[in-house]
Amino acid sequence: MCAEQIQEITPKQPAGARHLLWRGVLPEAVGLCFVAIIFTGFAAAYLVARNAWEEQTTAARQAEAARLATLTADAIGSGMQSGTATALLRQVAQRPGVHAIQWTGPAGEVRFVWPSPGHAVPTLTAVEDLTVAAANVRTPEGVLEGTLRIELAGAWDLASDSHLFWNWAIAACTTLIVFVLLYRRLRGHLRPLAALHQNLEHYAAGIERQLEALTLGDALGATAQSWNMLIREFAAARQQLETVRRANQTGDILTRFEGAIFRRVVDRLPFGVLCVNSDQTVTYANGSALALLGARSEAVLGQPLGEAVGAPAVAAAVSGAQARSSAGLAIDHTLTTGESETTLRFRVLPLSDEAAGGETLVSIEDIGRLKESERARDNFLYHVTHELRTPLTSIHAYAETLTRPGFDDEQTRKECYNVIMSETRRLSSLVEDILSLSQLEVGTARLDVGDVDLVRLIRQMVQDNLGAADEKRIDLTLTLPPKAPKVRGDKQRLSVLLMNLIGNAIKYTPENGTVQVTLTVSEQRVAISVRDTGIGIAPEDQAHIFEKFYRASDDKVQAVAGTGLGLAIAREVARLHGGDIHLQSEPGQGSTFTVELPVSNTESAEAFAR
Ligand code: ADP
Repeated sequence: MCAEQIQEITPKQPAGARHLLWRGVLPEAVGLCFVAIIFTGFAAAYLVARNAWEEQTTAARQAEAARLATLTADAIGSGMQSGTATALLRQVAQRPGVHAIQWTGPAGEVRFVWPSPGHAVPTLTAVEDLTVAAANVRTPEGVLEGTLRIELAGAWDLASDSHLFWNWAIAACTTLIVFVLLYRRLRGHLRPLAALHQNLEHYAAGIERQLEALTLGDALGATAQSWNMLIREFAAARQQLETVRRANQTGDILTRFEGAIFRRVVDRLPFGVLCVNSDQTVTYANGSALALLGARSEAVLGQPLGEAVGAPAVAAAVSGAQARSSAGLAIDHTLTTGESETTLRFRVLPLSDEAAGGETLVSIEDIGRLKESERARDNFLYHVTHELRTPLTSIHAYAETLTRPGFDDEQTRKECYNVIMSETRRLSSLVEDILSLSQLEVGTARLDVGDVDLVRLIRQMVQDNLGAADEKRIDLTLTLPPKAPKVRGDKQRLSVLLMNLIGNAIKYTPENGTVQVTLTVSEQRVAISVRDTGIGIAPEDQAHIFEKFYRASDDKVQAVAGTGLGLAIAREVARLHGGDIHLQSEPGQGSTFTVELPVSNTESAEAFAR
């Protein structure tokens, strides 16, 4: 296994080294060579120029020295007295650039020397020095009177200070720039390595270091990236190890379940979860728990349970459950935050296994809505039983009369049958209404959808109610537009809707009143309004009359038979068709119910609206 790995890795190394050579070292080496070549070229050019200048200047100086020596030797040889000759030589010595003068007699005796007789004049002996010139001193008769040697200052002695300064300044600057570049480059590479070295030493010595301190900057390119990736992975592994270690010490039970993923799941549960240790301290709270308690994590984590949830009963239940190692009861606690009230249900779930270390889970649910729907269900059952009991009681009573022994009154028998039949019809219609409403509410109602001719349907409904209206001498009128579009819907259910509205209008309108049914078409909607001159609806009842089983407490309403289901069904049907019902009412004046429905074809609606 190991050998295989080594074989796999080894061939890759030269490729890596080549990569480093081509991409890392070589470009830099080429760059530095380039700088070095420029520098060397500059230095060579400078040296060539300097040598040429030096040669030229030295030749000129040499010629000048020869000319001066010859002129002076001739002057001295032209019969000049010794004192005059010495004075002349002193004058020559004062000329700028004259370094030394020596006049020796024919026997080699020194007759004049400058700068001083005691001063050695080694340059005069250096014959190869080009700035030294010698001339023989001869009398006009050609007798050799000696030799005169004059040394002039060399080329470099004559060069101006600024000339020399600029030469050296340029050379020094170039050298400096090259060294600075080299230094910066090397420092860029060496700095992170030095820091790394130091950190690793600290790390090895056991000094606590932040692993981030070991990351490298960009200067080392891909090497730094690889190293940093390694450090990140190492840091993550170390953190995980630390989490598990802490979990074992502090008893945070969730971290023991392979950490992160499980914990994330629990964090997002839709109900609250708290972990409580054996000291009754909260060690964990998920997001839902904090939201339900309306508290920040610092107000819950590490706090005694009773204080964290604001319910000492919950803490008592947890300690009881811990002592018995059994699940505690569910505790309902009403939490008041500002003006709102929530009822929370706490369930205590002690974890009996060894690994849990006395930890207890507490789940939290918001049962406010549950209570609400429980109340609605109870209410519904109450009304249903109440409504069913009345017809059932009648049926039962009349059936008993019929079965009484010796009962043979034919007239009463007929009446009993009629009552039983009508109560059965009422019962059946009630059951039908309840069933229909439940189906509409939960969305399981089957709709037989098609294009419904509203004009025909409304006419039919009005027709069906004419008998009831006549009985109360109510004037039932119908106003229709010349043409009306069709609506998409269930004809049967729409007829129930209209029947309920028109039926109610007649039911709650005293004798000699009026009920007007009107169909209007506007843009994409049709509106059917049923207006009556009946008892009207008090404002406090208007908000509730569409709720199931709701009937106004008005005596005039209670005097009329009803279940309080008709309007609830009507509104569900309207909404199922994409429409709604609106109400306008004035107690004692009458009411107007308006149903708005979308039409099946927009264009036709607009056409009819004109
Ligand atoms: P009900 O069987 O009682 O008529 P509905 O659901 O049809 O049940 O109506 C609910 C309540 O709305 C009625 O009990 C009544 O108080 C009020 N109501 C409905 N229609 C009218 C109306 N046209 N005029 C006055 N009150 C009405």
